[in-house]
Amino acid sequence: MATILDGKKLSEKIKQEIAEEVKKLTDASLQPPGLAVIIVGNNPASKVYVSSKKKACAATGIFSLEVALDENITQDKLIEEIEKLNKNDKINGILLQLPLPKHFDEHSALEAISPEKDVDGFHPINVGKLYIGLDSFVPCTPKGIIEIIKRYNISVSGKNAVVIGRSNIVGKPIAALLLKENATVTIAHSKTQNLPELVKSADIVVSAIGKPNFVKGDWIKEGAVVIDVGINSVDDPSSPKGYKLVGDVDFEEAEKKASYITPVPGGVGPMTIAMLLSNTLKARLRIGS
Ligand code: NAD
Repeated sequence: MATILDGKKLSEKIKQEIAEEVKKLTDASLQPPGLAVIIVGNNPASKVYVSSKKKACAATGIFSLEVALDENITQDKLIEEIEKLNKNDKINGILLQLPLPKHFDEHSALEAISPEKDVDGFHPINVGKLYIGLDSFVPCTPKGIIEIIKRYNISVSGKNAVVIGRSNIVGKPIAALLLKENATVTIAHSKTQNLPELVKSADIVVSAIGKPNFVKGDWIKEGAVVIDVGINSVDDPSSPKGYKLVGDVDFEEAEKKASYITPVPGGVGPMTIAMLLSNTLKARLRIGS
């Protein structure tokens, strides 16, 4: 039976560590880290994410500022708001909640964020730095995965890692990070052939697809490390909400073969916000007192 990689518990510990670092600043009468979260429009899921980010900031002593913008503003107005935050000394990190309403150009909006305040790590400068191995802001979900791996003392060097999914948010950056840790990395995606065979060769499997129970238990090599990033809602008449959240991996079967496995929920998910706080603290500490 696999050891469960408890991202919830680990994220609480990391948040505690961050709160202690923030307290050192405020005890010395220095400014706490500040995070601005920009939300455009009324997407209900985005509102939930923004509110949980604000709560996490408050719990660790990080100053947070929500910038709520009307869905009908222009791209130029959005860029103007970002530029104001770039110049705001109280703000160390800027997060643009995605997705933006359809008429916006997401790429140019993300590029308007100062790379020094890009705590989501989506600016091309930070993406490029990650690939050439320079210190950068790393996107929060992949950073959280590496943190889980390191804190559980899982060795990566020389291992075969298969990443399923090639998004800019998860698949590509986690592949770059595993490569940096000296894994031999394969990125699989929707056009990949013989995926089950590929997964069977993996010592480390990271699944970031978004399809419930897609990765079968018998694809998992005996003793492999399984990181399930997927968050999928499936019908569950026994739950009061009528649904439950599951990952991409058939957990019950995979758990019997893996050495370590992340649950969904309670695995990678909680680490993502903890890493946002960690990146915001890093942005604050970079500028000294
Ligand atoms: P995405 O839709 O941008 O990418 C999905 C990837 O899956 C694509 O690269 C695609 O090529 C690949 N894919 C689709 N069908 C496939 C198939 N049949 N075989 C192999 N590959 C296939 O999604 P994303 O933003 O990377 O998110 C992936 C999942 O992770 C989603 O469930 C999302 O909700 C979840 N997620 C979780 C967190 C977290 O904090 N835990 C953060 C981000 C995303």
